[in-house]
Amino acid sequence: MFSTLADSLDKSFRDLRGVGRLSEKNITDALRQIRIALVEADVEFNVAKNFIERVKDKSIGEDVLKSIKPGEQIIKFFQDELTELLGGDQAPLDLNPPARVLICGLNGAGKTTTSAKLALRLKKEGRRPLLIACDLYRPAAIEQLATLGKQAGVPVYTPDASETDVVKVAKDALAWAENQNGTVLIFDTAGRQEIDDKLILELKRLHEFLKPKETLLVADAATGQQAVSVATHFDDAVGITGIILTKLDGDARGGAALSMREVTGKPIKFAGEGEKLDQLYEFHPNRMADRILGKGDIVGMVEQVADKVNEADAMRSMKRMQQGKFDFTDFLDQMKMIQNLGPLDGLLGLLPGFNKLKKQLPTGALDNKRLKRTEAIVLSMTLEERRRPEIIKGSRRQRIAAGSGSSLQDVNQLIKQFSEMRKMMKSPGKMRNMMKQMGGPG
Ligand code: GDP
Repeated sequence: MFSTLADSLDKSFRDLRGVGRLSEKNITDALRQIRIALVEADVEFNVAKNFIERVKDKSIGEDVLKSIKPGEQIIKFFQDELTELLGGDQAPLDLNPPARVLICGLNGAGKTTTSAKLALRLKKEGRRPLLIACDLYRPAAIEQLATLGKQAGVPVYTPDASETDVVKVAKDALAWAENQNGTVLIFDTAGRQEIDDKLILELKRLHEFLKPKETLLVADAATGQQAVSVATHFDDAVGITGIILTKLDGDARGGAALSMREVTGKPIKFAGEGEKLDQLYEFHPNRMADRILGKGDIVGMVEQVADKVNEADAMRSMKRMQQGKFDFTDFLDQMKMIQNLGPLDGLLGLLPGFNKLKKQLPTGALDNKRLKRTEAIVLSMTLEERRRPEIIKGSRRQRIAAGSGSSLQDVNQLIKQFSEMRKMMKSPGKMRNMMKQMGGPG
């Protein structure tokens, strides 16, 4: 999302670090460059301007200029101000009973998907969420919520197709919820192509009736400053309590994330970073600032991995490696774990400096298809072969190649890499090299 901005910042920071003695002029020049980069990333003009002013006020002082590493200090000021700009501390949801969350926004912003994502998240936290479809204009939206709710394993209230009054739907839904033993109710509302009076009126009635603890605006980050003005409109109408910014996985410039808090005064509570139901993350301003500064988000990465990798499986696999018992069945388990992580690109993007590193990797190096090809070869082996790879000789290799639709060369290469891997496992210092080979034949 922020790669262009991160690149520009990286360059300006290198300039600041590189200068022997910093003067007011050097600093002002570097900060001007940064301001331009922010505006180019679609940060609202005044937000960028005021932000840079604040960094400058802190930076231009005797103490800073006389310090040993003035460049580093300025970068630190920048990081602190950026965290503040993004909202300071992470803003939690108010889920005190009766916990009602009203989800609103324009069509296509990701309301329905996000409602289901949020439900899944809350369920994983041990709560009992219920989903309520309140979009009476698009039957397809009701269907969509029902389908997603099923995927998330969360009960969904779907109104009758003939229903036209959204407050009546909400009333019926509350009565239904009584018997569902739920603890959090999430209401997915109707959107529009753009804001219109009818939509806002309906939302106001619903809001008045439900008195939700949380009214969350779902905004598409890819729409940049428009997302910010939409948030302001909804806030004026019903008083939102927070924002969920979606599509932060896209390649848009990301300015919405930076202007949102300052313009609306409302916190970004979650970020959507993909279409899958588990791709909704708490928005942590400090971690996001680190990402924008190319420092990655290791905590976020560990959380994502922890959520998807079964710790007991990982430990068992590790033990087998240490005991030198690792065979193709373990290899297959590991491949499954890796695939569970989803696109590696997104996950590795949380590593510090990864965006730079990525440019140097051969194309397709992180391709899940390549993992799939390797998996296909292993799946074509018999159980006996997986357990005792040493028996896989000539004709067996040919059979495996034919069975998996790959070339004999691919099979040979995988088996060779695998046996080297096993050798390496016995010398722990070489584990790092092994990781490189996990991708199998290229
Ligand atoms: P609604 O009209 O506001 O209810 O929007 P939907 O929930 O139907 O989402 C519109 C489209 O955006 C769908 O194709 C979603 O899969 C997609 N979408 C939603 N959130 C995200 C996200 O965080 N990242 C990406 N890449 N796509 C998303």
